[in-house]
Amino acid sequence: MLDLPVADDWFVTRDVGDGVTLVTEPHVHPLLRCNVWHIRGRDTDVVVDTSLGLRPLRHLVERELAHGLLAVATHAHSDHIGGMWEFPDRAVHAAEAAELATSGGVTLDPAIYGEGVLGPYRDAGYDIPALLVDAVPEGGLAAAVLPRAAAPATRLLTDGDVVDLGDRVFEVLHLPGHSPGSIGLWEAAAGVLFSGDALYDGPLLDELDGSDVEAYVDTMRRLRELPARVVHAGHEASFDRTRLIELCDAYLDRRT
Ligand SMILES: [Zn+2]
Repeated sequence: MLDLPVADDWFVTRDVGDGVTLVTEPHVHPLLRCNVWHIRGRDTDVVVDTSLGLRPLRHLVERELAHGLLAVATHAHSDHIGGMWEFPDRAVHAAEAAELATSGGVTLDPAIYGEGVLGPYRDAGYDIPALLVDAVPEGGLAAAVLPRAAAPATRLLTDGDVVDLGDRVFEVLHLPGHSPGSIGLWEAAAGVLFSGDALYDGPLLDELDGSDVEAYVDTMRRLRELPARVVHAGHEASFDRTRLIELCDAYLDRRT
């Protein structure tokens, strides 16, 4: 068992407006602290990403059994798909469906992640501790490597697909670069973008297995033109269009 303090509440939730709730894990290091977004719709709710899977998540986002609830993985990195198995309806981009269909694990020991992950965080001034959590949930954690069940997608998404919640619709944007099947969900009517790891206000990672800098450059050019009012990202705090343009430009300056 990991010898760390036990956190009273593992997940913290916060209403961010537009019928959206953020679910996050304050005791997880930012590098692995995935934002989980619960979007409420008339017929169906959507949960965007499902965290590390250290604790069950579904009860936090499930309103009624009869109400639809689709779990969408913005991509299949282990910090985003840990809870996918809890949800009967699961969607991911076709390019990362195989990851979801295979069991795996998540590792809380930073050593495993290598310089492609740790370097950009270290360069940005983040401390990298010996373990990427500073507490454990009630019941503890057995080890620094935790298993993840296979959770094959029940729906494959591709660019231009529509996720319809009844009273609001999201367009699927294929945003490769960070990973081959990275997607965003774009609600044009409200100007709300869920960007996954394609764009967040922190060290962006484009030197991972499956990363593609050329594709990422195209993704940044596309995102820069999006008339987003607010961006809810895969990590870190949400931001507005001004910051969206700054972040895209910073990447384009660095890589073009
Ligand atoms: Zn990722």
